[in-house]
Amino acid sequence: MNEPARDTIFALSSGRPPAAIAVIRVAGPCARAALEALGVKVPEPRRVGLARFRDPASGEIIDEGLVLFFEGAKSEIGEDTAELQPHGGRAIIAAMLAALGRIEGLRPAEAGEFTRRAFENGKMDLTAVEGLADLVMAETEGQRRQAYRQMRGALGKQADAWRERLIQALALVEARIDFSDEGDVPEDLLAPALAIAGALEAEIAGALADGQRGERLRDGLVVAIAGPPNAGKSTLLNRIARREAAIVSPYAGTTRDVIEVHLDLGGMPVTLLDTAGIRDTDNPVEMEGVRRARQRAAAADLVLWVVDASAPEVFSGEPEALLQPPPPARSLDAGAAQAAGIAMQAADIKSESVARSWLVVNKCDLNQEVTKGPRAGDSTVRNEAKGRFNETITSMVNKQLTSKNESVTHNSEPAFVISALSGDGVPPLLGALERFAADALAGADAALVTRARHRRALEETLAALRRALTRPVAEREDLLAEELHGAARALGRLTGRVDVEDILDVIFRDFCIGK
Ligand code: GDP
Repeated sequence: MNEPARDTIFALSSGRPPAAIAVIRVAGPCARAALEALGVKVPEPRRVGLARFRDPASGEIIDEGLVLFFEGAKSEIGEDTAELQPHGGRAIIAAMLAALGRIEGLRPAEAGEFTRRAFENGKMDLTAVEGLADLVMAETEGQRRQAYRQMRGALGKQADAWRERLIQALALVEARIDFSDEGDVPEDLLAPALAIAGALEAEIAGALADGQRGERLRDGLVVAIAGPPNAGKSTLLNRIARREAAIVSPYAGTTRDVIEVHLDLGGMPVTLLDTAGIRDTDNPVEMEGVRRARQRAAAADLVLWVVDASAPEVFSGEPEALLQPPPPARSLDAGAAQAAGIAMQAADIKSESVARSWLVVNKCDLNQEVTKGPRAGDSTVRNEAKGRFNETITSMVNKQLTSKNESVTHNSEPAFVISALSGDGVPPLLGALERFAADALAGADAALVTRARHRRALEETLAALRRALTRPVAEREDLLAEELHGAARALGRLTGRVDVEDILDVIFRDFCIGK
């Protein structure tokens, strides 16, 4: 744990300079000496001092500012910690860090090293460390709330409480194994042990049955924009992102990279993925990008299937087929999809987890001209198109024109008639996306499990508990103890405190054995 010869570490803890104020942290056994070397009078612990920071070699004043000191065990890190707050100029920070680097026993901290020390010193468990990392990275209100709860021990405390009960159950079983000859050990210790295991099994299973909302809130929902080339996917993404996030081009196939835009929709994080860039390529660098994009699109929570209301395919061939977003690939005939002019290969959206897809009919600015009838000078294509115009789109456009609301549906899912170019119809689409995110993530900021690691550890615990509760195991003390040990170890790994000492502690405390 806290080794005596530990280095004292220092780093700039505030953001990129220049800024009004910088925060430089120093932690370790020489923190006090470091302040003195800078000519600073060490303030009372947890009190603020005003100081002039001097270069230890020349004695020249570098800057002045506030200084705080936290004493060893009472500090957040569990070691003497000093906080220096000079002004946040680049030269000041450089001079301060250089000065600290020249002090005996000090070295620059590695990434995450302060928190790592807090963990090693028992000030934080692993789930709190993860919560802290998420809190710093949180982009939306929902993520911030969730991360704060995790940092404050939402899962950690629960896991500790579960583990404590497991250890009690284990103590009962081990007492029975080791000390069954002795008179003061009650006869039936297995039944209460199994009762504890049964209750834990139900509670942990309950925590896992959360629809993965915690993880989804942490990672953000993924909404993939898909559809035939030139349907206006990139234009829509740009419109939504309100910036030039993707290259919009009138030529098919020019979006080379897969573009991601992070949105904050009513506090919920949504990543929009423009799949226009997902296409076959021989370039190895692009291939890797394409592979990743496919993976992400395949796991999307929602697909916005964009079609061009004015495209020739809509007026000829199989317009109905074009209006069908590809279903999960297990039932999709890739050949048929291609024939329908669907650029995005079936393999792109193949996951069973693509739960839903919404039809977005784009370029309604062009389409409206068609539905209102050809004007003088309109092209022959348009004139011809009118007679064969796709009925679904016509009725959608008409509904939209008359009702001006978003209640249009297609395949029992919301459908939208928009113009990505002018922005018409985009606000209702965004409103629906916001409601979709709110529904999908409802209650997520109260979820216990926020990472795959948590889920794995709890699933491991659950599996061991379930094995413990099966008859052949439940009837054999040694096997039962082994499974309970396994369950406790998995929980211990979750919080990062695996040790066996406390098992013995509980045996001695509860049964007064070995008196
Ligand atoms: P993508 O291949 O699906 O990403 O399509 P793009 O976003 O690159 O758009 C293809 C072309 O259609 C571009 O010339 C866009 O300016 C145009 N476009 C996109 N949306 C609209 C729209 O709502 N109305 C009109 N008139 N043109 C659009």
